[in-house]
Amino acid sequence: MILYIPTFCVNSDPFIDMGASLKVRFDEISAEGTSLTITDEAWFPDQELERRGKVSAAVLLKRDGQRVFVDGTLSATVILACDRCLELFEKTLGDDFQVEFEFTGSAPSISGEHEIDADEMDTIFIEEAAIDIFQLLRQQVFLALPERLLCADECQGLCRACGANHNKEACRCGAKENVSPFSVLAGLKTIKK
Ligand SMILES: [Zn+2]
Ligand SMILES: [Zn+2]
Repeated sequence: MILYIPTFCVNSDPFIDMGASLKVRFDEISAEGTSLTITDEAWFPDQELERRGKVSAAVLLKRDGQRVFVDGTLSATVILACDRCLELFEKTLGDDFQVEFEFTGSAPSISGEHEIDADEMDTIFIEEAAIDIFQLLRQQVFLALPERLLCADECQGLCRACGANHNKEACRCGAKENVSPFSVLAGLKTIKK
């Protein structure tokens, strides 16, 4: 059962997320677990991330008192710009994720009296006994992006001098390849002598 509940302005996240919302209240989650297949693609952050084709996601929610454990999976093909050569490339993200939510009823204490142990590292404290599944999926799709965006591990990048894409063409500058910081350092060394 999927309930659509209007978004209201309670948001425990520090950033403002204006995207679509799908809230599931803790009391809607059955003890044996509630499984949702998300066919609605409204969760996807189309404003920030270009994609190709359909996206899909599924979550299994399990409740234990004030805590809800989420076991999820998402799949999306996104279009990214390579950090080295700036060319666009496609990357299929197919990630599983596990997150735990804990309902605190009020703003979590930041006084430091509550020590956070390793078990709580992936816990998200919320002030409302509801989980915004769409917002969670948005966070997870960004987390699923690789740290370095490379079209290929062996991407040769651009020439620093003439901008030629070394994956596709030889240098136009006829350079002296290796306009690297090291050659500059080597130059300095010579001057010192
Ligand atoms: Zn590249
Ligand atoms: Zn060049």
